[in-house]
This record gives sequence, C-alpha cells and structure tokens, in this order.
Amino acid sequence: MKPYYIADEWKIIEEGFSANMQRSSESIFSIGNGRIGQRANFEEHYSGSTLQGNYIAGVYYPDKTRVGWWKNGYPEYFAKVLNAANWVGINIYVDGEMFDLATCKVSNFRRELNMYESALYRSFTAELPNGKIIEVNALRFLSLVQADLGPIKYSVKAVNFSGMVTFEPYIDFDVKNEDANYDEKFWSEISKKTTENRAFVTAATFKTDFNVCAGYTFTVAQNGEKLSPYQNLIERTKYASNRFSIDVKQGDTVEFIKYVAVASSLYYKKSTLQTQADQLVTNAAQTGFDALFAEHKAAWKAKWNEADITIEGDVEAQQAIRFNIFQLYQTYTGDDARLNIGPKGFTGEKYGGSTYWDTEAYCIPFYMSTADSQVARNLLKYRYNQLDRAIENAEKLGFKNGAALYPMVTMNGEECHNEWEITFEEIHRNGAIAYAIWNYVNYTNDSSYLNEFGIEVLTGIARFWAQRVHFSQQRNQYVMHGVTGPNEYENNVNNNFYTNYIATWCMKYAAEVVAKVKAETPDKYTAFVAKRNFRESEEIAKWTEISSNMYLPYNKKLDVFIQHDGFLDKEQIVAADLDPAERPINQHWSWDRILRSVFIKQADVLQGLFFFENEFDTETLRRNFDYYEPMTVHESSLSPCVHSILASKIGKHEKAYEMYLRTSRLDLDDYNKEVHEGLHITSMAGTWMSVVQGFGGFRVLNGIPTFSPNLPKKWQSLAFKLRFRESILAVKITAEKTTIVLEEGNEQKVNIFGEEYICSTEKTVSSNAYSEQLVAEIK
Ligand code: BGC
Repeated sequence: MKPYYIADEWKIIEEGFSANMQRSSESIFSIGNGRIGQRANFEEHYSGSTLQGNYIAGVYYPDKTRVGWWKNGYPEYFAKVLNAANWVGINIYVDGEMFDLATCKVSNFRRELNMYESALYRSFTAELPNGKIIEVNALRFLSLVQADLGPIKYSVKAVNFSGMVTFEPYIDFDVKNEDANYDEKFWSEISKKTTENRAFVTAATFKTDFNVCAGYTFTVAQNGEKLSPYQNLIERTKYASNRFSIDVKQGDTVEFIKYVAVASSLYYKKSTLQTQADQLVTNAAQTGFDALFAEHKAAWKAKWNEADITIEGDVEAQQAIRFNIFQLYQTYTGDDARLNIGPKGFTGEKYGGSTYWDTEAYCIPFYMSTADSQVARNLLKYRYNQLDRAIENAEKLGFKNGAALYPMVTMNGEECHNEWEITFEEIHRNGAIAYAIWNYVNYTNDSSYLNEFGIEVLTGIARFWAQRVHFSQQRNQYVMHGVTGPNEYENNVNNNFYTNYIATWCMKYAAEVVAKVKAETPDKYTAFVAKRNFRESEEIAKWTEISSNMYLPYNKKLDVFIQHDGFLDKEQIVAADLDPAERPINQHWSWDRILRSVFIKQADVLQGLFFFENEFDTETLRRNFDYYEPMTVHESSLSPCVHSILASKIGKHEKAYEMYLRTSRLDLDDYNKEVHEGLHITSMAGTWMSVVQGFGGFRVLNGIPTFSPNLPKKWQSLAFKLRFRESILAVKITAEKTTIVLEEGNEQKVNIFGEEYICSTEKTVSSNAYSEQLVAEIK
C-alpha cells in the first residue's frame, strides 16, 4: 500500500485535500512546544468533520466519572486534558461569503510539517460557491523560545476577482471536549477585552480553577504595504474578535499576521494574566514574525543537533524516526517537574493527556540519552512528589503501613481510571516506576536520587507488593491473584508472569537500596526511617522471604514462561490465522471473544524479558519470543518496539525491521486505524529505543556504554548521539564498522562487541568487529 503522506527525510507532506482524512491529518500535523499543543485545525471556518484541539500542558479538568455500575474504590473523576481556547481561528469572507474548504472546489492543496523547523505550512487554491477564487498560504509555529507564543502568517490572494476580503481573527473559549462525560463545557469566562488590533479572553476551568488568558495582536499588509483598516470589535460569551474588510483588485495579496499569546496561571499570577498576554503579543509584534521564526528555528536546530538520528538508504525509516523524535520534543521539554507525557500528548483527547506507566517504561531512556539528566530526574521527581497520593490510593483499596500504589492514570497523583480490571488490577505499573529509578541510576550514576527521594518511593512500592501477594499452601509458594498484566486482552488472571516477576524484583531492589543508603548516607537513612516509619529488619525479612519463594508460571515441555495460570488451556492459534478483515480485533470482535482468545494485545511476558534481559540467557529469550510473537496482535502502540528490540537481540533481523516500521510508522501509516484520535506519543520513545537499543545494540553494562549493532539490510548507515554522564558520544554504524566520536566530555570507556576501547577527544573509536553472520546477511 502506498503511504498516504509523501516520504521525505525532514517533512511530512500531504498533497491533495481529502475531507475523509482531515481528522487523521489534524493529528499528524499537530504542533507543540511542551507548553501548548495544537492539532492541525484550519485557521478558517471548516464545516466538515474536525476534532478541535488546543491544549495547554498541566491544565486539566476532573470530569465526573461515568460508569454503569459503581464499585467501591472507583475514582470519582477522570482527569482530562482540556480543549482550551481556539487561538488559531481566522474567519475569512470573500465578497460576503464565508470561506469554508468543505464547500469549495480545492486544488493544489499541500500541507507540510517541516520537522526541522517545527512549523506547519499549508497552501491551496479554492473556488468558493460564489465563483471567486482565492489562493491561500498559511504558516504557523509554537515558539520553542517563548513558550507562550504562537505566531500565524496567513495570506489570501484574489485570483479571479476584484472585490472585498474580510478577515475576522478571534479567540474562542467557548469550546468543549468531545469526550466530556456529561456534555458539559469546562471553561467559564473571567474577562475579555477587545480594542483596535487586539483581543483577549481570560477564562477559568470549573473545579480546578486554572486561569488562562489567550489573546492576540495583528498586522495586515496589502501587496507588501502595511494597512490600518477600520475594525468592528465583536464580543460574545468567551469570544472576542476584530473584523475588518480590505478592497482587493484581481492579483492582490493580503498578508495577515496574528501574534498570539496563551498565558496560564501555572506560570503567571492570575491577576496579571491579561497584562502578561498583552505584553507578550506587543513584544512579539515588535520583534516581527521573521525574527521570531528565526529564533525558534535556531532553538530547534540545537535540539536536532543532539537528538537527531540519521538513517542512510531508507527514506521512510528516516522520516519515521524523525517524526517520533519531533513529536516527543513537541510534547515534553523537561523543564517543569509538574508536567508529564500523556500517551497522546497534545494531539487528541483520548487518554486524557494523563500520566501512565508509559513514561517510566518507555520515555525515560529517550530523555536520558538525548537531554540533560535533569529532564529524566524531573520525570522521576514527578512520581516522588505524588508518593503520598499513591499511599492514599493504596489505603482506599485496603493496604496499610505506607504501601504505595501509583495510579494507572493520573494528573495530580490521584487515580482517575475507572475500569475495575485496570484500576484495581493493572498494578504492574508500580513495577515500572521502580524500574525507572533503577534505569536512571544505572545510566546516570546519580545515586543521590536514591537517598533523597528514591528510597521512599521504592520502599512504598515494595510494601505494596508484600501485602498484595499471598501464600499458597497448595503450592508452598507466594502467588498473586486477580491481576491484569500489560496484555489488557485478558483480565483478572492469577499469577501473571510479568507482574509476579517485577514484584519480586522490586522487593529485591528496594532491599538493596535500603542497604546502600544506610551504608553511604546514614543521616539520610535515619531521617527516612523516621519519616516513613520503616521497620528495617522485619520489612526486609518479609521482602526477602517473598522474593525468594515467588511462583513464576513456567511450562517444562515448551520450556517457556507462561503468561498466567490457564493460558495454555486457550485455543492455541496464531495471529497469522486471523482474517485480515477482522483486524484490528478490538474494532471487530466482541470484548468477550477477545478475552477468551489467545491473542495478546501487547508485550507481556516479553515485556519482562526485555526489562530484565540480563537475568536470562539468549536461548530463553529466543524460545519465549518464538512462542509469544505469533500470538501478539500489537494492538497497543507500546508493543512492536519491545518485539523489535528483542528480535534484534536474538538475531531475527527481518522481524526486527518489520516491527521497527510498525512502531515508527504506526501513526504515519495508521496501522491501528485510530490516528484520527491523536498520535501515540509515548510509544514514540519506544521507537527510539528500537533504533538505539535494537539496531544500535546499546546498553549500559557495569557503567559502560556497550554496543552490539546490527543494521537492517536496507540501511547503509545509522548515526545517533548519546548523552552519557559527562560525555556526548556520536555513534555511526555501517555494515563494515562502528565508529564512536567523543564530542564532549572526558575520556569515556566504551565496549563494542565485547571489546573495550577508550574514547577521547584525540581518539575516535572504530571497531570492525561486526558479527560475521550479520555481514553475510547484509551483503
Ligand atoms: C495500553 C497501556 C497503555 C495505555 C496508554 C493502552 O492501550 O494497553 O499499556 O498504558 O494504552 O498508552
């Protein structure tokens, strides 16, 4: 199938207007700067199907829960990322007729997301029902330098007529979420102000009382000459606009520039929001569009300089990895520990923009390697700051003595997911939070995190597991009942391998950290014991007893770990047997049929083998991979990346590449037929892992960056940079050799295919030790 979007190394391009694709393209062409996110909604009015999406990081609404049958312990609300003010809007009228692409004959339509610049371009020619033809060019970006700023340049050319073109830029807070549980609106107006050339609306969220002011100033020019047109000031509830008309002659172009600021009470005092927004847009207009764009592009250039990955010989793979990196940095820039990374970022409503285990399991490695370690530390701090809520959350479910259960979904630390099989049972998320701490310390060597914060989180988590398991007389082992593993296509299972394994690991790791902190920073340890009422000998003894005697389902004949008790009783069929017309099964089968089937939504046993690969030999990985991969339908975006990395590790290169394309082009090629709802932001970090850890074979072993690369056949080379502790390493891999250049920092030991090298500013490391087998396969 030919991809809908044109392949290009730095751009995503759509040629031709397709109303059916509009919602999907609105997701794909989203822009953001970590503070604000914006779907690619048109500036002008559009009466076709659209999902309006303007989001502000950290601004959420606790929408009252809606469930059929209430169960004790359900959260009262589901926190949603809010659709906020429509700031991009510019209504256009041509000789009195409202311009709307849904009613026009459209030609030369081109939409382009320039990832290098982080800018959205759109151009087309449109014939309105009144026969007037206009040519439109639009360009917008969300400044990476001035995070509250979104400039838009929008020009209209009169192609076949002389007459009047009317512009009506506006701010509209009268918006709603499509997924609002009770069809309510979430914003109330505080104030508005419309004067010549500017308009501001300030509104507050109900319940959470976040205040936001969105406003603009603008300039207008005809054939390059600045104009000061007479304006009508229009105000209605939560809406402010300036309306003006320009007489045009055939061939004239009117260029309109809207300088918008969106200032929120997360960063400014509530009482000053409008003044701040006014100041921001005034300064922006003085600086001018081109200068703002230039500083924004320079900031992105610097980001790309560190975070880019280049792949030679495969344009689609190249485009895809850049798309993934780009979207991650549009969503989260890491400078605010109150923020996190929603699975859909700011590109749609589903998943509410809330925090999931995705951050710890998938995103941390990406940010650790491509940004200052402070960014990953902020992500860990986010959970530390919510520890008391996690303890309250566990208490609500009956756990005691400081046991912490982190929520499956949260904005502020409280659980807000309300499907019992996930809220109460998908408890493996606790394990990922502990694993991320280990991962961070292993990578950065920053053990100060452990004595300041980590020890509290880890012991809270270990306490939870110790209470959640029970002893089975029959097995004479500890077991864990009534859980949902990462594979949500089966619920309420007993002894999910992944959950049992990670629970055991958490208890062991917590005990290790307790010993380390006690030995290295006794004062901090004493403070911790008092603060968390830690009963060292009793608690450690319990954790040790459980972790050394935990039941892990395993089948001797198959020699694989079993996903959970009873899994082998299911009809053993494989995904290749499915009728392609019935995939994805979650859009074609009843839930009941899915639950009874063997099909696995996402890596489950394999997720565990991926995290803890050093605890298993390669043969074990291979056997389990061979058993589970054929049954996995990858209907969670988080799945193919894990399979890709494992496939690389066990030498299944074709499979690794197939899974790479699936993870990296998941949204661009809409594998799961849901991109209209938004992009899969968190799994994009998994894509990054499948390149760097998968094809690059990168791991940190005993404190040393270690590589065992293998390139897909099509790739001539793969290059990426890694921030590792004090150094920046530039890695380039070809079929013949691996070269590592130390770009910054002191000498750094590295390991390539088992050989150690010292990399220094004078000495580039180059290894020809490519696995024989691989060279043979590639050639
Ligand atoms: C997956 C979860 C994931 C969530 C958000 C679900 O479909 O099964 O593992 O946390 O999406 O990405």
